[in-house]
Amino acid sequence: MRRLGEGGGGRVQGPRRPHARGLLRLIWSERTISRAEIARRTDLSRSTVSETVSELLATGLVVEAGPGQSSGGRRPIVLRFQDDAFGLVGVDIGSSHVAVALTDLRGKVVAWQERGHPVSTDPGGTRDLVAALVDECLANWGKGVERLVGIGVAVPSPLDPRDPERLSEVALPAWKGRAGFSFLSERFGVPVLVDNNANLGALAEHFWGAGQGVDDVTYIKIGTGIGSGHIVGGRLYRGATGAAGEIGHIVIDPQGAPCSCGLRGCLCTLVGAHALVLRAAALRAEHPESRLARGEISLAAIEEAALGGDPLADHLVREAAGHLAVAIASMLNVLNPAVVIIGGGLSRVGELLLGPLRSAVRSRALFWSAASAQILTSPLGPRAVALGAATLALESALDDLGRFPFARGARSG
Ligand SMILES: [Zn+2]
Repeated sequence: MRRLGEGGGGRVQGPRRPHARGLLRLIWSERTISRAEIARRTDLSRSTVSETVSELLATGLVVEAGPGQSSGGRRPIVLRFQDDAFGLVGVDIGSSHVAVALTDLRGKVVAWQERGHPVSTDPGGTRDLVAALVDECLANWGKGVERLVGIGVAVPSPLDPRDPERLSEVALPAWKGRAGFSFLSERFGVPVLVDNNANLGALAEHFWGAGQGVDDVTYIKIGTGIGSGHIVGGRLYRGATGAAGEIGHIVIDPQGAPCSCGLRGCLCTLVGAHALVLRAAALRAEHPESRLARGEISLAAIEEAALGGDPLADHLVREAAGHLAVAIASMLNVLNPAVVIIGGGLSRVGELLLGPLRSAVRSRALFWSAASAQILTSPLGPRAVALGAATLALESALDDLGRFPFARGARSG
């Protein structure tokens, strides 16, 4: 087992002053700022700011970047947040793939690995693969595990924050309800945080994507299942037991096909990856001219065909937009988000989906919730969830400086 700080020597203690966390957060969000400007913005005395900044400089998270603009007198020294001081790992576990992102402290992906894997039927192999991909990313990054802040893991299951090791047995039956990712903490010597994949897509969009600076954001992830993540009032909303955002199990057709959850006609039985493939297979005899009429059908093939103007693919996308609109309109009436971001499968077709989706939502939602909501596809694309998992580790460290490597070393002696 590898432990943090082996052979490290000369470890810096974490900042201990009461305002360190608030000041670090301010410097992080401003990127560059002078001590005088910090004092002005926080109402703290110049000496308190100066002493706290000295502590932050010692951590390596903040550096002096040279003289800035003068407002009359001497040119002040500008402080800069050091985005590459430490790294974060985000793991995206889908039902048939694993992706790992290593990012800096500004959401920039500096190493990336992904593999297809039968995740839903092979928990042990998935855990080994995650560890191997994290190792590969660390090797590509080259700065060493002692510069790693933490690992965030996104899982395709609702998750109760009070019991983050417990997965839904409906979503991942072979995992027998246990996530079992605490081994990553022992293996890499860093904190590990686990959350639902759509929640982390929402977090990524809020920090780095189409939801930046927006307090009420919905992210909808279309994959094998369909999940949604909701930023409400600037914070991720998880619900009483972590089950918020199961938009995929809104019943669209009570007489429809049975769903894995035990209900019938859920949104994911109509718009999920598997459902779309089945629907294409059922309709292709009527569309001999379609490129989907021959060969194996996959979600990627449907997207490709839609982008190429294929009439059957276009029909499937429009039908999916209509079903999605029913669920999105209800969600708009309840939560009134400013932005709804569609990610995952189908989002690659962009306006082909968004055009019919927007008009169907407008005809179904209350005017005042629909009129204010922008509906977009994810600018972060297929990396959103892994990026969000890394962001979970970042957010937690910015909230508690004790999670940064320098403080962990000091704590454990
Ligand atoms: Zn269902």
